[in-house]
Amino acid sequence: MATKGTVNVQTENIFPLIKKFLYSDHEIFLRELVSNAIDATSKLKVLHGAGEVKGEIGDVKVEVIVDKEAGTLTIKDKGIGMTEEEIEKYINQIAFSGAEEFVKKYEGKEGAEQIIGHFGLGFYSSFMVSSKVQIKTLSFKEGSQAVQWESDGTPEFEISDIEKTDRGTEIVLHIAEDSKEFLEDDRISGILNKYCKFLPVEIKFGTKTIKIDDPAGETDEEGKVKRVDSEVDNIINNPHPIWTKAPADLTDEQYNQFYRELYPMTFEDPMFHIHLNVDYPFNLTGVLYFPRLKENIEVQKNKIQLYSNQVFITDSVEEIVPEFLTLLHGVIDSPDIPLNVSRSYLQADGNVKKISAHITKKVADKLNGMFKDDRADFESKWDHLKIFAEYGMLTDDKFYAKAEKFTLVKNSKGEYYTLEEYQDKIRPIQTDKDDKLVVLYANNADAHHQFITAAEERGYDVLIMDSPLTPHYISLLESKLDKVSFARVDSDTLDNLIKTDVEIPSKLSDDEKEKLKEIFEEVVNKDKFTIQFQNMSETDAPIVITQPEFMRRMQEQQRMGGGGMNMFGSFPEMYNIAVNANHETVGAILKKQKDNRTKVAKQLTDLAMLSQGMLKGAELTAFIKRSVDLIK
Ligand code: ADP
Repeated sequence: MATKGTVNVQTENIFPLIKKFLYSDHEIFLRELVSNAIDATSKLKVLHGAGEVKGEIGDVKVEVIVDKEAGTLTIKDKGIGMTEEEIEKYINQIAFSGAEEFVKKYEGKEGAEQIIGHFGLGFYSSFMVSSKVQIKTLSFKEGSQAVQWESDGTPEFEISDIEKTDRGTEIVLHIAEDSKEFLEDDRISGILNKYCKFLPVEIKFGTKTIKIDDPAGETDEEGKVKRVDSEVDNIINNPHPIWTKAPADLTDEQYNQFYRELYPMTFEDPMFHIHLNVDYPFNLTGVLYFPRLKENIEVQKNKIQLYSNQVFITDSVEEIVPEFLTLLHGVIDSPDIPLNVSRSYLQADGNVKKISAHITKKVADKLNGMFKDDRADFESKWDHLKIFAEYGMLTDDKFYAKAEKFTLVKNSKGEYYTLEEYQDKIRPIQTDKDDKLVVLYANNADAHHQFITAAEERGYDVLIMDSPLTPHYISLLESKLDKVSFARVDSDTLDNLIKTDVEIPSKLSDDEKEKLKEIFEEVVNKDKFTIQFQNMSETDAPIVITQPEFMRRMQEQQRMGGGGMNMFGSFPEMYNIAVNANHETVGAILKKQKDNRTKVAKQLTDLAMLSQGMLKGAELTAFIKRSVDLIK
């Protein structure tokens, strides 16, 4: 006999409301229904373990079945099932009070679809895509009567006794006219793959054909057992993903294999991983991978997937982990991350903050451990790690405090030093007269070759700092390290970069310098270049073109969009031309005929430009022509 009734709601027309709220993400109904099926199955397993379910529980796969002809999508489990009273309680009453609360609270707010499962609205999300929903269920309790609940999306429902002999629940969705896409195999398998890939109970979606050894044992001409087709269940999930296992039971190859499972489109193995496992004061498991970053920041970001008890929640985890950690890949699973709140609330949540701090600490500890255990290996990975480390140090003080000890710098000879080691190394050679350590760096070993060589000839050391974060990173180091300043090798003459007490006398008189200055000013663009005379050593180049450190840093930071510099307009390109007053060739210019003076001055400045890669186009053509003439 069928019973009719009205679900317990005060809000009129709750179904159209559900439909409207969840509009942006209809597909989520499947995650909700499959999760319910998994829950019911897990509960059965627990009860069986506790001896409350007698006998064998048999095959407990969850099944998703599309019947295009009937227009139905069925989610079938062999879990605990429900009695009529339970349907009354869980479906008719509780679910609806949750639904009402949800509707009142989140009317019109974004992100509502993320919240749905946490207000007991999970089951009712099926009405987003169905014109009618049936629950056919048989409880595991001995002597239960199988029942069917049916509703067509109004608050009215109907319950009746049915014939059903196998334990568990079938949810039959009669797919609505506007939702026919959910009768397509590809669509369904796409959704299952997105949300259900790591659920803890096997999920079957259709069958597939594989090749197996002939069970009848027939052989081919060569005497080998024939391979034959066999229909097997198509299991769409991996119920035991590695983050649920103990690290001691896993090999590096298994970690890498899982990486490929997570990111089928990635061909490069990660460098290494961290297995997270916390149970106090919150629950968190996961595996984070360090990809090979090189110079790429943007493309690699936001690949961490967040799960709650193996149910996929989201892959935008910005609020949960510090920004620099979004460069990592992998999985975080925590039932303690609140999902029933808005994004801004998430940032302020105590648990989330703890989780975030914990992950940061773990990552820093891992790097520190690698540094200590195998320095050579750590150095070999450093070029790929440095962007990550720099990013972390720039954005997270706690991380800086830890990373300070293991972060490395590399010099032009390919040697790696910690910050402390490096300061010790250069203290005796690169301390200026004000007692400041001057760190020389180049961001491109080729382009700055001449400057690097000149510095090395003087016994100085030059770091190669070529990450996109370098301009910000050196500012950070200058503020954190005591009495240290950074100067790019091409930003001034070496005598100016590292000022000592030793004065080099000038071979030219002031009058001669004045005359020479006029000659040089004739051959360069005065808006862009400033001529200065310097008493360098005779072995230094006759002319050195430099770009002042401050100007260049401003330009770089502006280009990277940092520092709010735009109010000053864009920074002009400015260079210094340092003329070596002590160089023989420079002194000789004044001894030449008037015509030849500018020619030589031009040739010298062009050579300096050439070494900086600044001589281009017509200027370059003229230079080559002039050089050929000079050889003649
Ligand atoms: P939630 O899963 O968040 O509790 P739902 O609306 O999805 O909310 O489900 C309400 C309740 O209905 C569940 O808590 C469970 O008791 C019951 N239920 C739903 N699906 C099943 C199922 N497949 N087997 C047994 N019980 C179920």
